[in-house]
Amino acid sequence: MSGKPVFNRVALIGMGLIGSSIARAARAQGAAGSIVATARSAATRRRIAELGLADQVVETNAAAAEGADLVIVSIPVGACGAVAAEIGPHLAPGAILSDVGSVKGAIVKDMSPHIPAGVHFVPAHPVAGTENSGPDAGFAELFVNRWCILTPPPNVDPAAVERLAAFWRLLGANVETMSAEHHDLVLGVTSHLPHLIAYTIVGTADELSQVTRSEVLQFSAGGFRDFTRIAASDPTMWRDVFLANKDAVLEMLGRFSEDLATLTRAIRRGDGETLFNQFTRTRAIRRGIVDIGQDAPTPDFGRPHPDLPHAPVPRPYADEN
Ligand code: NAP
Repeated sequence: MSGKPVFNRVALIGMGLIGSSIARAARAQGAAGSIVATARSAATRRRIAELGLADQVVETNAAAAEGADLVIVSIPVGACGAVAAEIGPHLAPGAILSDVGSVKGAIVKDMSPHIPAGVHFVPAHPVAGTENSGPDAGFAELFVNRWCILTPPPNVDPAAVERLAAFWRLLGANVETMSAEHHDLVLGVTSHLPHLIAYTIVGTADELSQVTRSEVLQFSAGGFRDFTRIAASDPTMWRDVFLANKDAVLEMLGRFSEDLATLTRAIRRGDGETLFNQFTRTRAIRRGIVDIGQDAPTPDFGRPHPDLPHAPVPRPYADEN
């Protein structure tokens, strides 16, 4: 526990991987005077109480929002508009309302109309995650040395943005600010497109049913294993991401298809030089990511299994899953 809390009363609406990690990290760092939490289902609310993740667990989103000076909505992107409508009338004047959604344009469009004057709306996206869901999946170190991108609308009070940035920094994140539109383009290529590729390739391999249950799994270290980890990510969350970031994803998919066609042609023509040049370029990109500390030099192929020999030290993933 360190320093003075950045907020007196933090309300966490949605307590899955991200919401519960915020609760754990805020507790560990003393970032919140008190934490009030809620979730959609009684089962999750019960589990939050059992795990002792909040000072108070309440039944409704409106009750959570009452009197909070920071409200963070950590639920699937497609559900954020309805929750904003529900809590809007209960937000305290001067409060900051934020979220953690992986798409920002759609969040701004869906939530903004429900936010009363005098409440500061500062959307956020912590670019950190694992393929696991629910309140048990969270951990206090999830955001350490990961980016948290804030996408404040142009008219928002800079002091509110700075206060939210201070909160995320205390949780260990590096904070960057950009427009929602720019965020969606950048994440379209760095996160959304790779997930789509992983979902596709794992599905394709599964359809090759003669090999799926034997060779594909047996030899999965050959690249496939990393894809299966990404493709195990939460179906609801990712359905919403692709529906909400349709334009940027289609744009990136178009570019990707063109590049794939170039490599397909090179293979067909036996053009080793094109393949070699491309692989050399991408190897340098990988080295760059390691150099700036966004991944370790040795691959961990996802969260290490304790029974595997030479299991690497557990650490949060650089990407979001
Ligand atoms: P999660 O572990 O599946 O938790 C989702 C939470 O949202 C649960 O508390 C769930 O309540 C609640 N919820 C689900 N549907 C809802 C609805 N229709 N209305 C109200 N509440 C609902 O999900 P997560 O991974 O924490 O993701 C939450 C948000 O973080 C998403 O917007 C996602 O885009 C973003 N994000 C995720 C990652 C990642 O890697 N997972 C990374 C960065 C950002 P119940 O448990 O009661 O059903």
